[in-house]
Amino acid sequence: MSSKILIIGACGQIGSELTFKLRELYGDTNVIASDISYNNLDIVNSGLFEIIDAMDYKSIQVCVEKHNIDTIYLMAAMLSATGEKYPMKAWDLNMTSLFHVLDLAKAKFIKKVFWPSSIAVFGPSTPKDNTPQYTTMEPTTVYGITKQVGERWCEYYHQKYDVDVRSIRYPGIISWKTLPGGGTTDYAVEIYHEALKNKKYDCFLSEKTALPMLFMDDAIKATVDIMQAKASDIKIRSSYNLSGISFTPEDITASIKKHIPEFEITYSPDFRQQIADSWPSSIADSHARKDWNWKHSFDLEAITKEMLSQLKSKN
Ligand code: NAD
Repeated sequence: MSSKILIIGACGQIGSELTFKLRELYGDTNVIASDISYNNLDIVNSGLFEIIDAMDYKSIQVCVEKHNIDTIYLMAAMLSATGEKYPMKAWDLNMTSLFHVLDLAKAKFIKKVFWPSSIAVFGPSTPKDNTPQYTTMEPTTVYGITKQVGERWCEYYHQKYDVDVRSIRYPGIISWKTLPGGGTTDYAVEIYHEALKNKKYDCFLSEKTALPMLFMDDAIKATVDIMQAKASDIKIRSSYNLSGISFTPEDITASIKKHIPEFEITYSPDFRQQIADSWPSSIADSHARKDWNWKHSFDLEAITKEMLSQLKSKN
């Protein structure tokens, strides 16, 4: 029997592309997109869409019952940079929405949950290079705290209540369809837009700041793969480290210059530098590779080529 899916936060950077992919895989009528507002008309007009506030348990439950939903992808959250401006709002949204979805699974309204964690679970005391799955985790952003606590609750609901929840620690995600929503790795998307529009970019991180990144197609593939894996293959019920590539603003600039030689970058690090400095430079993801055969496809050169050509034809 095919799955009936609800995506919460479907208008965002990842939710929007996930919605299109899941519709392609499971059929338009089996995938219900939802968000708190109509802020992405491509999604709103492309199939079944509901307005749902992830803070409102009842409205999620009503939608689950109305559409016979068995699987929820919870993509609504407040991200790292915005979270530092509104710490209590980030805490409220990120935790309350997760509890609502886990509780719906505990009460057997749904069977399966996907909830993304982040490299923000790590902090300054974590080993920076090839950060292992199991290591010191002392996040210093409110966003990172919500993700770390969220991971603990996911594992707890799995162990105590047999909830089938699956999770990935996404690195920074690079994409061209929908703009990112207030994270510390957003520069790696903005830089392509500005390179094409103005041939210059003022970067909010310093030139040597290395961060783990992933192209959207790889992120969506990982999400689909972990959700399609056999339950018994998912050995980690907190969240899996996931790695694609790692690069600095200097590296991405060199890669863009191969296509746009006159492109120029300047650096004006702001409060996001401190957040980036607290995160890993690269991630070790052997568990994801072993347990459910994770493998990335896009390196930096492939990402640059794809970003520039897709953005050029979009504008
Ligand atoms: P985004 O900010 O682009 O999108 C979030 C969506 O949630 C938006 O469409 C927003 O309208 C919606 N939303 C906000 N409050 C809501 C509410 N109360 N009810 C319903 N919807 C609400 O975020 P994203 O980049 O797509 O991230 C999706 C998930 O992936 C988040 O959990 C985020 O923490 C995680 N993640 C993202 C990245 C990244 O680089 N984008 C990296 C690591 C983890």
